[in-house]
Amino acid sequence: FVQFKDVQKTYDGETLVVKNLNLDIAKGEFLTMLGPSGSGKTTCLMMLAGFETSTRGQILLDGRPINNVPPHKRGIGMVFQNYALFPHMSVAENLAFPLKVRKIDSATIEEKVNRALEMVRLPEMGSRRPAQLSGGQQQRVAVARALVFDPDLVLMDEPLGALDKNLREEMQFEIKHIHENLGVTVVYVTHDQSEALTMSNRIAVFDDGVIQQLDEPDQLYEKPVNTFCANFIGENN
Ligand code: ATP
Repeated sequence: FVQFKDVQKTYDGETLVVKNLNLDIAKGEFLTMLGPSGSGKTTCLMMLAGFETSTRGQILLDGRPINNVPPHKRGIGMVFQNYALFPHMSVAENLAFPLKVRKIDSATIEEKVNRALEMVRLPEMGSRRPAQLSGGQQQRVAVARALVFDPDLVLMDEPLGALDKNLREEMQFEIKHIHENLGVTVVYVTHDQSEALTMSNRIAVFDDGVIQQLDEPDQLYEKPVNTFCANFIGENN
């Protein structure tokens, strides 16, 4: 469904931050890019979203090359660590925004916004401003906004990084639940091993712009292919 074919990226024309990446992500899969800071995960997500262009190679979505498709035409939902909600809009207006951009009629917008709020268990919060919500609630709104236009693909970059441990675990469960219910494809970026192990169908372990291992969580845990993966997966577990 998502294919990276021989994708390379440099920012300065010299240093390769993504080196000859090949990766196929299946429809409906929860694929996590896991790796230390600076290993190239966010760059991969940004190329998939269309905010960065690859220096070489191709990215395909549903069999079609997307190198020349602008971000808003890729039909991809996105969630970031800092939520990126519009502060001057109510929660409901934040959720309506991606639908208005797509010229959806107002009755359908209202229906989809309410459904999205129920999905993230915030049915009563539509009229509040983001600043009137807790961090966890804001992050749930960000998740709802990424899903409200029924995208086939959602990208999440360290979405739970700003939350405390308990809330993080609760949100991991909720995101997983939403993924299973909707059958949406998720590409998730984190440097947190246990988060990756609990949530993913498969994990791509990144180091220095290269995927060191691509495997299901139990395989990765039981049979790391090299010392980097063994050490990295072993940390904090
Ligand atoms: P983190 O978890 O810290 O975000 P990451 O694995 O997502 O790390 P990237 O953000 O993709 O890694 O960064 C990979 C490399 O590319 C790093 O060395 C970073 O400094 C560099 N880099 C990222 N964005 C830019 C940019 N816009 N201009 C120049 N260099 C960049």
